[in-house]
Amino acid sequence: MSNPSLLILAGDGIGAEVMVEVVKIIDWFGEKRGLKFNVSEDLVGGCAYDAHGTPLTDETMAKAQSVDAVLLGAVGGPKYDDLDFSVKPERGLLRLRKEMDLFANLRPAQCFDALADFSSLKHEIVSGLDLMIVRELTSGVYFGEPRGITDDNEGGRIGVNTQRYTTNEIRRVARAAFELAEKRSNRLCSMEKANVMESGILWREEVQWVHDNEYPNVELTHMYADNGGMQLVRAPKQFDVIVTDNLFGDMLSDVAAMLTGSLGMLPSASLGLPMANGRPKALYEPVHGSAPDIAGQGKANPSACILSFAMALRYSFDQGGEATRLEQAVEQVLADGIRTPDLMQAGDGTPATTSQMGDAVIAALNASL
Ligand code: NAD
Repeated sequence: MSNPSLLILAGDGIGAEVMVEVVKIIDWFGEKRGLKFNVSEDLVGGCAYDAHGTPLTDETMAKAQSVDAVLLGAVGGPKYDDLDFSVKPERGLLRLRKEMDLFANLRPAQCFDALADFSSLKHEIVSGLDLMIVRELTSGVYFGEPRGITDDNEGGRIGVNTQRYTTNEIRRVARAAFELAEKRSNRLCSMEKANVMESGILWREEVQWVHDNEYPNVELTHMYADNGGMQLVRAPKQFDVIVTDNLFGDMLSDVAAMLTGSLGMLPSASLGLPMANGRPKALYEPVHGSAPDIAGQGKANPSACILSFAMALRYSFDQGGEATRLEQAVEQVLADGIRTPDLMQAGDGTPATTSQMGDAVIAALNASL
């Protein structure tokens, strides 16, 4: 069988810098663990606009559709701020998500012990935290019609957006969440506002339907999303997998992210339907952007992008054991005090550069053999 294929789109700013470290790690898995990938690289975002006048060419889009997984760095930067909306760097990323139909966005919030003091919450509330938010990504109020701003014919205006979900849209993201729950601790909490929104009632009923008919052994609970926000900062460790819609997921995943400290630590996966080979369409990327304020200075933390590759190992390539090996290597490096500036406090000593951090992860991987 041929090696699985991986398309790397490093993008702009620190996206390109952190991806250099991930490529070292991909090579390590090929050499030391016999996990070889057919890696190709291409342009997305501002660098694609510079080269081709578009943030994503049709050829790159076609490549993304044909590979087993896409790994993306970050796009954007001040240089592109005045471009027309249609060719802004972010349009390249949105096109990938839309045309690959990536409806399930997985955002883990994992607090490594060594970083518990970076959270805005108390050490004991976040230490050991490991939860996953599954956010519906391609429907809901950000896409629903009608939408727009109109005159109200009385001298004022009306702004309209429509929260709209279909049975199929809810069931498919619920299935993705149940599958994950089965691989973790078998618990799923679904969040909506069924108390005040009909779309919330439908959401609750359809998630319950998927549970009763397809995943009866997973423990399912329902919670109103506003209470979910409170519970996330009160006692986040009560959750394992959370599934919710696009709007609530946008907010709740950012709340959960801050429990863990730094943007430089947060990976994500966006998954679609299974392809002919059984693997889901998949795009893996750090949550952070291109960080123009630190780009080109060797200050970027590569962990979020490295951990995104760990998610690819687990969710696209069925290599959960190797994914854990990589996550533990990152944790070891942090515990050893090797940290980029975003993870340091006053008096912490000399920060590591992006490439020193990547090298330290490789050293920890070697030590794991
Ligand atoms: P950002 O995530 O790029 O940066 C926010 C802050 O976090 C900055 O101070 C930055 O230095 C810091 N930071 C981010 N990642 C870091 C890392 N790995 N290591 C250390 N520090 C890190 O968000 P922003 O400043 O709002 O946006 C900058 C550009 O990135 C904009 O053009 C924006 O549109 C784009 N953006 C892209 C994505 C993406 O590609 N997915 C996401 C968000 C923003």
